[in-house]
Amino acid sequence: MLDINKVRADFPILHQKVNGKPLVYFDNAATSQKPQVVIDAIADYYETINANIHRGVHTLSQLATDAYEISRKKIQKHINAKHSHEVLFTTGTTYGINLVASGFSQFVKEGDAVMISAMEHHSNIVPWQMLCERVGAELLVIPMNEKGELIMEEFEKLLSNKVKIIAVNHISNSLGTINPVKHIIDKAHSVGAAVIIDGAQSAPHLHIDMQELDCDFYTFSGHKACGPTGSGILYGKEEWLNKLPPYQGGGEMIKEVTFEKTTYAELPHKFEAGTPNIEGGIVMGTAIDYLNSIGLDNIQAYEQELLEYGTQKLQEIEGLKIFGTAQHKTSVISFNIEGIHPYDIGAIVDKMGIAVRTGHHCTQPVMDFFDVPGTVRASFSFYNTKEEINALVEAVVKAKRMLS
Ligand code: PMP
Repeated sequence: MLDINKVRADFPILHQKVNGKPLVYFDNAATSQKPQVVIDAIADYYETINANIHRGVHTLSQLATDAYEISRKKIQKHINAKHSHEVLFTTGTTYGINLVASGFSQFVKEGDAVMISAMEHHSNIVPWQMLCERVGAELLVIPMNEKGELIMEEFEKLLSNKVKIIAVNHISNSLGTINPVKHIIDKAHSVGAAVIIDGAQSAPHLHIDMQELDCDFYTFSGHKACGPTGSGILYGKEEWLNKLPPYQGGGEMIKEVTFEKTTYAELPHKFEAGTPNIEGGIVMGTAIDYLNSIGLDNIQAYEQELLEYGTQKLQEIEGLKIFGTAQHKTSVISFNIEGIHPYDIGAIVDKMGIAVRTGHHCTQPVMDFFDVPGTVRASFSFYNTKEEINALVEAVVKAKRMLS
């Protein structure tokens, strides 16, 4: 069980007024808030061990390097990767996807195919389109149904040995759908295709296990999982990371440089050119410790309760339609009210201290599918409450009255 009062006490930002009203933060799918331990760890890094890593003999550099590498091991354990060198520090999900899409120029040829799904974030569409344009490959899209669930029969029809990589999100940021990624991975491997999972929305909410999933790549952002902005992880299977060319050239990623030829460093350094976000990498470890101290099972159970409560309460509002009614869903509710632009609802509820996101949520094809310009999205985290959901419902009713 999760002690909500104790949890909320960990997040200083939640205890303020916005526009004269207690803040209700329901934009968690965009970025999560940070607990005090994470905020303290950021300051602590700069106050005590700030130094560049991996190249200094001096004490601070060694302390910073140790902290960075301890964090990598912590994350390895958390996601159950086989080796710590399969865990690459990045700046976020977008970086991880681009790294893989760029490297796959070597493995996708003219006439081959890359597969994505109908509910991808733009960051899991555009890099693959760019890859397909570069090499002359075809982009295949797994369609979805009206509930916002991938149509698995269609997926199997699209699958062939022409497909070299499948890029799919674990959880949709605009619909909340939890996709059957294990099934997709197994099927993909049966035709020799690799799979990259966009875990931006899953890492903060679910247990993720690289060896159980058997995915080839998995990427997520620290800032959505209570960690600092500009931190992230790309997990890659050792055999793939060895085959993949480096993404960026520079310091840290080399073994030897001459003007004639450069040889590359071993994993993970081959993919970590330049000075990384040292503080971000270290503090991601703190954030993971924090999430584990609450317990992902507790988080999931509590957020599910919030999802059910919020869905039921919002549905009571006449004219309100929820987009994304999948059987397996996380705590994201995307909705519109008939005849009212989502932006207007967002702006009015903000005046009441409630932060929701409005727009296409970087998933324009999802909006096109439902034939709407955008939606209002309330995404709940484990530090939210049913009372806050009541405040949202009240604010939406008020907004509806004002705008109708
Ligand atoms: N994929 C999904 C499903 C997301 O929700 C997001 C962030 N909204 C991203 C990718 C991109 O993450 P970032 O901006 O942190 O790189």
